[in-house]
Amino acid sequence: MTETVAAGVLSESAVTDVDWSAAVSAIREYAPAGRVLLLCHVNPDGDALGSMLGFGLGLRRLEAPHPQATFPGEFEVPEPFAALPGLDLLVPEELAYPDPDLVIVFDVAAETRLGGLADRLSQAKATVVLDHHASNTRFGRINLVDPKAAATSVVAEELLTRLDVPLDREIAECLYVALATDTGSFRFDMTTPLVHEMAARLIATGINPGDISRRIFDSRPFGAIKLFGEVLGRAALDPTAAGGHGMVWTYATLEDLDRHQQRPYVMDALIDPIRTVVEADVSVVVKQLGEREWAVSLRSKGAVDVSKVAVALGGGGHRLAAGFTGHGTPGDVVVAVREQLDRFLI
Ligand code: 5GP
Ligand code: MN
Repeated sequence: MTETVAAGVLSESAVTDVDWSAAVSAIREYAPAGRVLLLCHVNPDGDALGSMLGFGLGLRRLEAPHPQATFPGEFEVPEPFAALPGLDLLVPEELAYPDPDLVIVFDVAAETRLGGLADRLSQAKATVVLDHHASNTRFGRINLVDPKAAATSVVAEELLTRLDVPLDREIAECLYVALATDTGSFRFDMTTPLVHEMAARLIATGINPGDISRRIFDSRPFGAIKLFGEVLGRAALDPTAAGGHGMVWTYATLEDLDRHQQRPYVMDALIDPIRTVVEADVSVVVKQLGEREWAVSLRSKGAVDVSKVAVALGGGGHRLAAGFTGHGTPGDVVVAVREQLDRFLI
């Protein structure tokens, strides 16, 4: 990494020098001989897994003996991320160090997103939280939270730089998956010059963006297409919702998944076609988790701060992309969303 690039990275961060230094000191103190545990959120996405594993590979370059990485809930890596470097850092939740020296948390806005792993934070001698959600509750003892960062991997890259860990191809692939995921493949508003500069540094290591994008965005089983056909077919448009800006929504059940023999992660891509509907500012996908329990994805094109809607319903996220866990029938969940939408028009 050149001086010029590092200066560019450092200039825009919302994190104070005191926090960066505290994080570097804690990692330098515990990584060489301590038990280091890396955590990301339940139902991990590309940013959560990519920033955690990329950073974990960086810790190995610092000769950390046995860093572990894990996340709560079902221990399954979605197929699009099944070829990520650093997967061998992963251990199931129940095998994670019960009393780690250092815990580093990635892409987690609130402790509740860590499920049963949240207790490791109180056990640890030091905790560092890397995140980019404006709603982050700063639950670490050291918090590197930059709401202006397009992805948690932006924060992870800067911390690696400050630890003098050079980017190699494996680290870069993880961080690229994270950056591409959270910027919607470099399409969303936060795709700043700094994002493209970071992508350039990552691609310069020799990774193949075409292969990576095909794997994480453009690959799915035939059964998933059939499932999408049904779920998109039941989408409903409500032009009067969100103060007349409109809302489009659909839902997918566990029974739908079973019928097409698909894994739950395939439902995460449903929001992409749904949010293309021009008649609606807000899009909603309600995905069944269990009996009367649903993971809800919210997106806005700019008229509504959906993170406020999500927070009001017990979740969180970003202004234009957020989520929460809903209860009842899909109709109940959507009525609850509709009720909140008018309150948070931007
Ligand atoms: P997605 O719809 O892609 O699952 O999530 C969009 C954004 O909302 C992500 O930034 C994610 O972290 C946040 N999010 C999704 N579900 C929840 C939730 O149940 N709780 C919280 N706090 N944030 C969520
Ligand atoms: Mn993220």
